[in-house]
Amino acid sequence: MKNIVVLGSTGSIGKNTLEVARNLKDKFQIVGLSSNSRWELLAEQVEEFKPRYVALTDCGLVEKLKRRFQGNQLKILTGNNCLQEIVLKPEVDIVVSAVVGAVGLPAAIATIEQGKTLALANKESLVMAGHLVMSLAKKNQILPVDSEHSAIFQSLHSGKPREIKRVIITASGGPFCDYPADKLPEVKPAQALKHPTWQMGQKITIDSATLMNKALEIIEAKWLFGLTAEQIDVVIHPQSIIHSMVEFCDGSVIAQMGLPDMKVPIQYALTYPERSPLGVRWLDLPGIGSLTFKKPDVDKFPALRLGYQAVREGGTTGATLNAANEMAVQAFLNGQIRFTEIAVYVEKVINHHHFIKNPCLEEVLAADAWARQEMKKCLM
Ligand code: NDP
Ligand code: MG
Repeated sequence: MKNIVVLGSTGSIGKNTLEVARNLKDKFQIVGLSSNSRWELLAEQVEEFKPRYVALTDCGLVEKLKRRFQGNQLKILTGNNCLQEIVLKPEVDIVVSAVVGAVGLPAAIATIEQGKTLALANKESLVMAGHLVMSLAKKNQILPVDSEHSAIFQSLHSGKPREIKRVIITASGGPFCDYPADKLPEVKPAQALKHPTWQMGQKITIDSATLMNKALEIIEAKWLFGLTAEQIDVVIHPQSIIHSMVEFCDGSVIAQMGLPDMKVPIQYALTYPERSPLGVRWLDLPGIGSLTFKKPDVDKFPALRLGYQAVREGGTTGATLNAANEMAVQAFLNGQIRFTEIAVYVEKVINHHHFIKNPCLEEVLAADAWARQEMKKCLM
């Protein structure tokens, strides 16, 4: 029996993780759950999974949760450090990090430092501080949940690290793949929130529409698999059947495929190195008919170029890019900026930041805070 904590259990990845855990009750026990503000859904999850610990980041709502579970053994944590506190509990074996944004970084580091397994959906942790997180992690201590990185991780079993020529990360292209570039400045949040193949949280759905998600994933791949910018290619594959590929030095290309369903990479991260049956829809290739591929258009989606810039520069560029993007996405959702201004603002902030080549955690967090301030000024 393995004890799991799910950070961000009320989100899209969090709920899928609980569905996986529900079907593997003989293997996994949920010992901790967390959310930011959706306390009622969190309370329902507590009633079903009966964890020992629960963390609600929003201090203003915690009294409601306490009243609901009065007299119960449940330990309720809150405040800025509650995510770290919950992962530090001695009985925890695996932490699924499914929170969105920079808040995931300190908990990711705490998980690794404690020698616990990190099933990582929160790509922002690696984008911000991949050099710190990876230097602390042992081999296979971080298991990727992001579908592309799970696909690469699985494909890598066919060869040795030194035999890798490149990885090919697939992208659905998002809702505006075939949309006229000159009409992009006018698109509204409701249009950008309609992803063609995946059901996800708001932030990553907007990131998928700008291709910033792919930019973050390139950076994530660099750190997870030790790759250079030249070893990472992106290809648009609108059907989202091939989740990514690895090309080896002998020309063999190994792909991982399946219908798009996040329960597959989540479960693999939890059961690795084994597999367990999963009630998914099976792949019907004749039914799908054809798998298509094309080059991404970096002029139409300049965020992708910023991802490569961050891979090449390293240092504080990733943290700056991530923070500026979080702010820009929120500003777009609030109707403050246009869709196409997201990448414009992020680029401006990156190119004005005080670059540090090998930042410590405090310097990473300072770069994040600076970028948020800078974005606030841009938005005024
Ligand atoms: P959601 O927005 O659906 O869920 C986010 C979760 O994080 C919720 O539980 C939310 O709580 C919690 N949360 C939000 N803000 C804070 C905060 N400040 N402090 C603590 N907790 C917070 O996101 P997704 O599930 O879509 O994505 C989660 C992560 O996984 C992201 O990093 C994303 O990039 C990555 N990912 C997601 C995929 C997907 O298919 N959805 C695929 C691959 C990666 P509350 O409900 O209370 O707001
Ligand atoms: Mg992904």
